Amino acid sequence: MSTDCIPRGSDGFYHPASEGELVCLVKQAYREGRELRVRGAAHSVSHAIYTDPQAGMRNHVEQQSPPPGDNLNVMLDKYISFRVVDHERMLVECDAGIHLGKDPSDPTGTSTLENSLLYQLFTQYGWTLGDTGGISHQTVSGFTATGSSGGSLRFSANDNLYGFRMIDGTGEVYEVNRDADPDLFHAFSPNMGLLGVVSKMTLKCEPTFNIVGQEAITTPQACEVDLFGDGDGTRPSLATFLKEQAYTRMEWWPQRGAERVSLWKADRVPATPGFEPKPYQQFGSNPELQELAFSFILTVIGNLDDLSVVPAKLKPDLAQLEQAVEEVLVPKVGKEIGDLLAKLAAAIVGGVGTVAFEIARLLAPVLRKKLPELFADILGIAVPLDGSGGPQKFQDYAWHGLPMDNQANDVLVPTEFTEAWLPVQHAGRVMTLLQAYFVAPADPHEALRRTGTYAWELYGAKATPLWLACSHTSGDDEWKDGVFRIDLYWFANNPGDPAEVFYPQFWQLLRDNGIPFRLHWAKFQPVYAAGDRGWVDFFKAQYPRWDDFLELRRKKDPNNIFLNDYWRARFGLWDAPRPQPVQGGVPFTTTDPAPHQG
Ligand SMILES: Cc1cc2nc3c(=O)[nH]c(=O)nc-3n(C[C@H](O)[C@H](O)[C@H](O)COP(=O)(O)OP(=O)(O)OC[C@H]3O[C@@H](n4cnc5c(N)ncnc54)[C@H](O)[C@@H]3O)c2cc1C
Repeated sequence: MSTDCIPRGSDGFYHPASEGELVCLVKQAYREGRELRVRGAAHSVSHAIYTDPQAGMRNHVEQQSPPPGDNLNVMLDKYISFRVVDHERMLVECDAGIHLGKDPSDPTGTSTLENSLLYQLFTQYGWTLGDTGGISHQTVSGFTATGSSGGSLRFSANDNLYGFRMIDGTGEVYEVNRDADPDLFHAFSPNMGLLGVVSKMTLKCEPTFNIVGQEAITTPQACEVDLFGDGDGTRPSLATFLKEQAYTRMEWWPQRGAERVSLWKADRVPATPGFEPKPYQQFGSNPELQELAFSFILTVIGNLDDLSVVPAKLKPDLAQLEQAVEEVLVPKVGKEIGDLLAKLAAAIVGGVGTVAFEIARLLAPVLRKKLPELFADILGIAVPLDGSGGPQKFQDYAWHGLPMDNQANDVLVPTEFTEAWLPVQHAGRVMTLLQAYFVAPADPHEALRRTGTYAWELYGAKATPLWLACSHTSGDDEWKDGVFRIDLYWFANNPGDPAEVFYPQFWQLLRDNGIPFRLHWAKFQPVYAAGDRGWVDFFKAQYPRWDDFLELRRKKDPNNIFLNDYWRARFGLWDAPRPQPVQGGVPFTTTDPAPHQG
């Protein structure tokens, strides 16, 4: 019978408020033979976060609730403090649940700007981290558990990692840090929650700095970077640009006839008194209306085979939908389709399902036929080419400006991803390969199927010795100069699982062309049957420390309480025993096959 250390919340999560309570929960899971997983901000694909059973749950981003059943899912919203442990070395110990910035989707409502790590470091100490991801909603432990990273080959939050305080799979606390055991330390990010529960992390901060930059939205031909070639006297190659630019990311829209690239870049400048931030503005003068219009049209074009699902997929606050369609969308798409879209929006807002369905029936064939030629106009809503004013210039504090996508509304424009990381010197070759793949079909509909209707984000990351980092390098291999990352967006209101209906073409294209690549651990990965080692062995071959990590995992989690089905599949550990109750205090001895027998 279960003996809960603390009661399970009505939301299905355990909410420990101290390390002692966390330890108690892990010991309980070990003793009772139950899985235990911790969630951060739930920005990773859900199967990577929660315990089993997840078989009936679609794998997706921002799954806020845990699956049903007796396993333990933990949320650390009551465990969010931090303290300076060495002022001179700028060492800060954080409780694992603290968020980097505010998490607007935190279901407990605990996360605020004021209790976020980066804000407190900046306002109280004038410190920061070397980089952040495109958003800063994540928890410190969730960000590092998946090896997340910002867009820079020169700066990385990995360099700010100093130590981890962990609770292993029997409930014992252990610590590892960069000075005491540098090699072992490199096993702990990314850790996927497989080496234990991260209780605390120590970060080595740095003095804050500011950023100055610009975003230019141009055609690929007018882009300041030669995206597909070797570069010349006027434009650097993509690999050179990524290596030299302090911070950058590009959103490439390769859709035929709509081709454009929005290039965001920034440099570091010292923090000086009197600095006046002029933050980057991600959307135009009326972001709410633009995002709503864009979300609506993407939802419509993504569901042309069954437009009856559109009302349910649009998120609740539709007060401005009709206005958004009238003011933003109709002027872009012409009278015939514009009128039908406006009527559809009105019927949806009015809750007149049958009328909406009738309009949808008329709209679908016209829109389907004209979509390839209309796409550039649709894209103009969210990503208009720069006008005569040229690129948008901005300057900001690092903590605020580096996460340039914080303004994007996850609810209105829900986005999912797969992300390939490959040695930076292959950047131009891979771009050329993709370009050729997109231009090959004579049929514009097939071309649009290949590109999808969303952006391909292009950025980079610094090489690191962290064992399972997607930018891992041994120091003398082809990964040593850093990585080029292709982050393929998927609009989450589209039907189907992108890992089955959209991403495979991309993964296979890279693989068939002999491109070495690794996939971001937090984002979509190939789906395959138990026992199918095709992709497992492909990825195993990309990570020289793969077996070392699995051996460490085996030791730190002898009852396999942290190993859910998703991670079993990623590492080919289908035969590892399920957690078993530990009788009479006798430690469970695993018969998990050693990884090399795999
Ligand atoms: C809109 C959006 C933008 C993004 N931008 C970027 C980007 O720019 N760069 C990038 O690299 N990635 C990016 N990501 C991916 C994101 O950084 C990862 O999904 C990250 O892991 C999310 O952190 P989280 O706090 O939400 O953790 P979760 O997603 O909740 O958890 C991540 C993993 O960590 C485990 N975990 C969490 N806390 C603990 C703990 N205390 N102990 C043990 N295990 C734990 C979880 O079980 C899970 O396996 C983005 C994702 C989204 C949705």
